[in-house]
Amino acid sequence: MECQKCGEEVEELVRVKVGKKTMKVCEQCADVVRESEEIAGEAEGAMKDMMGYKGR
Ligand SMILES: [Zn+2]
Repeated sequence: MECQKCGEEVEELVRVKVGKKTMKVCEQCADVVRESEEIAGEAEGAMKDMMGYKGR
């Protein structure tokens, strides 16, 4: 099994959601992806809050 992020051969792959896609990556990459997705999600939420606040 090959990690779709770093391309390394690993025994087990973890499925992580990246935007609307699902990627199969090794556990190490899964952590990185999850973290960056969380940050992206938070940033988006904060932006929406700001826009909603400004809009009204
Ligand atoms: Zn990997």
